[in-house]
Amino acid sequence: MEQENQYYVARTKLVDKLLVKGITNRGVLDAINRIPREAFMAEHFRNYAYADKAFSIGEGQTISQPYTVAFQTQLLDVDRGDKVLEIGTGSGYQCAVLCEMGAEVYTIERIAPLFEKARDLLQLLGYNAHLFLGDGYQGLPYFAPFDKTIVTACSPEIPPNLLEQLKPGGKLVAPIGNPESQQMILVEKLPSGGYKQTAHGNFVFVPLIHS
Ligand code: SAH
Repeated sequence: MEQENQYYVARTKLVDKLLVKGITNRGVLDAINRIPREAFMAEHFRNYAYADKAFSIGEGQTISQPYTVAFQTQLLDVDRGDKVLEIGTGSGYQCAVLCEMGAEVYTIERIAPLFEKARDLLQLLGYNAHLFLGDGYQGLPYFAPFDKTIVTACSPEIPPNLLEQLKPGGKLVAPIGNPESQQMILVEKLPSGGYKQTAHGNFVFVPLIHS
């Protein structure tokens, strides 16, 4: 109980910090305020669950910094009922944020132990996302088109299949650049079929593996 209370206090402070840093989307802040981030982290890191930092989740991968999760989700502009594709399930935390916001989430992870752990945890917490083990670079042609797509690993260019699988009027957010530093790119698929691309600051992600 004492521990729960400490998490609650720390979580509230994190949400305040995110607001100060420019996260104003109420849906994003409320989602972060409801999700036990500690559950997505290794036991020895749980005391730091509400530090605004990325942490190792094993297999050379990371759970993204809360600010990064919040920034990407805000940029994605998620509406209730949106069909959202996530590339890089990792811990499942970003997926939980999207579920809390009322999205129907399809998420792909290429590393089996991470996929299994995220699947079991999300189920335990009551999130009904669709999890897939495989190469996210290809997207999910059978389940396309998507209203929104979020890529949580970096690549030199936007995987073309992901653009194809977006609905007209849909949005894609992805960190694009070299392994040391990436720009957060928002692509809007115009109803006419063209694309509008804008850049939104620098971030560092683990690589999207193109097999
Ligand atoms: N969204 C995650 C953070 C993911 S870290 C979270 O909230 O915790 C990026 C993840 O992308 C890693 O788990 C990595 O294994 C995965 N990944 C890298 N390349 C991939 C690919 N081609 N297809 C699917 N997942 C991939």
